[in-house]
Amino acid sequence: MKALIKKRRNELKEGLREEFSQLGNRLGREAVLVSLALEADPSSEVYRNSIKKKGESLGVRVKLMEGNREDLRRLNRDPGIDGIIIHCRRENFLEYSSLISPEKDVEGITPLNLGRLVRGEDGPRPATPLAVMEILKVLNFPLEGKMAVIVGRSIIVGKPLIFLLLAENATVATAHSRTKPLERLTSQADLLVVAAGRPHLIKPSMVKEGAVVVDVGINVVDGKITGDVDPQVKEKALLTPVPGGVGTFTPLMLFSNLALLLRRKLEGKTSHNSD
Ligand code: NAD
Repeated sequence: MKALIKKRRNELKEGLREEFSQLGNRLGREAVLVSLALEADPSSEVYRNSIKKKGESLGVRVKLMEGNREDLRRLNRDPGIDGIIIHCRRENFLEYSSLISPEKDVEGITPLNLGRLVRGEDGPRPATPLAVMEILKVLNFPLEGKMAVIVGRSIIVGKPLIFLLLAENATVATAHSRTKPLERLTSQADLLVVAAGRPHLIKPSMVKEGAVVVDVGINVVDGKITGDVDPQVKEKALLTPVPGGVGTFTPLMLFSNLALLLRRKLEGKTSHNSD
């Protein structure tokens, strides 16, 4: 499976490189993405630097900045900035994410873009759920009529994924920290997507034979990256790897959103057009 994931990653990268080159010709400059840290958080530095590196490999200029909400408003108005990613503490996420211009929202997290997702209208989507959909394409897993169970209901992963899976005609159920007992739900899933942030939460006994299990979790245990699914699950289901699974696609999805926003901009569409 890792080889298929790598192949798809390379195809996506190639496609995005080509697209940013064409978009750059139309814009008369490179696309520009700003990663704005609204609060100091050393743990996001590795992530921010990796986005910068990835952007540069795709022909996108990524500026790493620190600032406050006034700076964010300035970036929203600046025609030389095409996309904005924010970094802030979890408790401030809803407030700050609603200040981003929907036209520059490469994470698909503004109220307007999340609303467009619920309404089935096009627009940037949160990157991790998009990455899950990419893995399902790699696995060639047809969703129509399937029972999909998502473990986790966060605003950036579980909740938006509900609507992406529904749009593909899956039947979707969501489990979370108060779901009791968890296995009653997980054991019915044809597709189980786990985004709980709990190492090895899902054991083989909780999974249906022959299911597809997408492990979104990234946890560090004893210095090693591990997922939310016990690797023994591989004995009875198709399990995506961690690392080398969903996380392979997540940063690329930010750039895929950026390309979409730029196409919309060049076509004179705002997020308020209904297409
Ligand atoms: P979060 O903490 O915001 O949400 C976790 C969710 O899991 C909550 O809805 C909670 O109710 C649920 N949950 C927690 N414990 C549970 C339990 N015992 N049983 C059932 N549900 C439980 O986390 P998040 O930001 O959504 O991230 C989830 C995981 O995905 C983390 O490990 C994170 O590192 C990882 N992640 C990976 C990628 C990627 O690209 N692979 C991207 C984003 C997040």
